[in-house]
Amino acid sequence: EAQANEQIRRRLHNQIQELKGNIRVYVRVRPVVPGEKDEAGGQAAIEFPDTRDHQQIVLTNTTESAMGSQRKEALSFTFDRVFEPQATQLEVFEEVSQLVQSVVDGYNVTIFAYGQTGSGKSHTMLGTSPVRMKYMVVCTPLNVSQGSPAEGMIPRAVRQIFQTGEGMRSKGWEYTMEGQFLEIYNETINDLLGYGEFDSKKHEIKHDKSGRTTVTDTVTLPLNGPSQVATLLARAESRRSVAATLMNQRSSRSHSVFTLRVSGTNTITGESCEGCLNLVDLAGSERLSSSGAANDKDRLRETQAINKSLSALGDVIASLGVAGDNGKQATHIPYRNSKLTYLLQNSLGGNSKTLMILNLSPMAAHLGESLCSLRFATKVNNTTIGRATAKKLAAAP
Ligand code: ADP
Repeated sequence: EAQANEQIRRRLHNQIQELKGNIRVYVRVRPVVPGEKDEAGGQAAIEFPDTRDHQQIVLTNTTESAMGSQRKEALSFTFDRVFEPQATQLEVFEEVSQLVQSVVDGYNVTIFAYGQTGSGKSHTMLGTSPVRMKYMVVCTPLNVSQGSPAEGMIPRAVRQIFQTGEGMRSKGWEYTMEGQFLEIYNETINDLLGYGEFDSKKHEIKHDKSGRTTVTDTVTLPLNGPSQVATLLARAESRRSVAATLMNQRSSRSHSVFTLRVSGTNTITGESCEGCLNLVDLAGSERLSSSGAANDKDRLRETQAINKSLSALGDVIASLGVAGDNGKQATHIPYRNSKLTYLLQNSLGGNSKTLMILNLSPMAAHLGESLCSLRFATKVNNTTIGRATAKKLAAAP
């Protein structure tokens, strides 16, 4: 009976996925990092009451009134999947591996990491190991079945697709993969795999009639050998670190978009298919602090560009959800409102599949930003299924 129940639950879950216009939202709370414990405020009150389906997260917000009395408010949010701090890279990848797999069948898939700077976006996408510096890429050769435990989604996804391709050879399928790595900074595209001076070329986004997107004057690297993904990521990181000396913390102020294009042809049946996977590490979603930064013109411009593109992304996903609910494609989707959404136009909506991973810090000092992130994700999630997922649990005086 338990098995039957599980099957029913799975089927319902799949139906919900279909209803939602192929948009899912996951939440991942990172652990406290060494040295962080002493920070004022300590850990935030975050609970994970749903031990069966892992879909709920509850944050307790404590506010102090002018009279000095404390008011506690527990806010509950429900998503497709909530990962607790101890979740491993492998556990997170297992929840996306089906989505990654569908790229081999010709789907376009986009996975976003959203959250404030320091919430674990790069850890989720690229991976970091405690003994290595931040942004040093942890990466094992493609033909090794289990990568390093610290590896993030990019190397894991490339390896999985590579291995699937190897397995399909006996059925006549031959696959080629190529990778591209772009950065969008201040609404300008830069090529993380390019040559010559960073920022020096102007890149244009082109969509052709067949639904293929190209960006002019950018480098695309073949990914057909075991060591190539490591080489690609190392090259992107070294270019990024050069750019970082030009402007401190630039990587957290820009979006980075890794695109893997997979083309398959069947030498027996003559069939062919093409799919594409975008893994996007979004710019930090933190709000501009009222002190300091507002006076810095460059910082203000960066912040405006980030706000514009993140809200454009929220609008696009929300209107895709509305289009999905209405069962018609006629709804206007405002892709053109930012470089990011325009670049990903062919991988958002239609037959494509979208996942947003919301990264959260576990610290009390970041509770305000965490709530903002959860509200953004709720907006993205809510429109698609038409239910209120944010619920006040209790309001005690
Ligand atoms: P972001 O990309 O959002 O700015 P990072 O991925 O750089 O954040 O994460 C900030 C710090 O927290 C890094 O030192 C990173 O190694 C660490 N970290 C993030 N997520 C995890 C995790 N799930 N497990 C262990 N350490 C993590």
